[in-house]
Amino acid sequence: MFIPKRIYIKRDSRYDAKTKDILARVRMCNPGVVIINLDPGIFKYPVKSPRDKFLHMKESAIISRRISPFITTFASPGDIVEDLTTILNLGWMCAANCEFCYLQTNQTPEHYLYSNISDAEKFIRVAPVAHAAILTIWTQISYSLKRALLKIPEGLLETSDELRVKFAEAGINTDDEAVDFYYSHQEWIFNLLQKNSKEYRVSYIADFYVDRDIGTCKSE
Ligand code: SF4
Repeated sequence: MFIPKRIYIKRDSRYDAKTKDILARVRMCNPGVVIINLDPGIFKYPVKSPRDKFLHMKESAIISRRISPFITTFASPGDIVEDLTTILNLGWMCAANCEFCYLQTNQTPEHYLYSNISDAEKFIRVAPVAHAAILTIWTQISYSLKRALLKIPEGLLETSDELRVKFAEAGINTDDEAVDFYYSHQEWIFNLLQKNSKEYRVSYIADFYVDRDIGTCKSE
């Protein structure tokens, strides 16, 4: 069990219910925990060397609000055939210290706990249907380019993140709602792909648009 020696709290998180909950739980296990309120919210290490920073953070946690999305699409690195993997970020970094772990050297060591973690719930609720919609976009890009795309095409990751936000805002969590949204927002999706990709340049009507009654692209 991770029992921190010290907790840093960013200013935006100071009065969040989750922050109070975390502090109460830590104090039960370590009544002497040091609480450091960050003002104006910037975290600075009290030690200098990368190794000391790493060790310092293994005894610490920073409570913060997560600004970027809690759920994202993972772009796997390297030249490999890819599946569409969804990542749920409920925290950042890890309190453990396994010798073999690549996180020991490959990531910033700051260990974050999120005080707005309840915001993740609305994204979790829509994640399955959003996932199906994102796979559909991938297929639609492939059809419009008339070739198989074994890796996630450029621009789809950013488009996926924006689509997930839209689904969460609209509370779309059934297949029927997702299909309705998809057909009525094809142009919006297409414009996002154009905005997020320098390479994806096809005609909306001729190559991308699918007629709901016919179910095919115009070019087919
Ligand atoms: S392998 Fe890495 S991420 Fe997993 S528990 Fe160990 S240190 Fe944490």
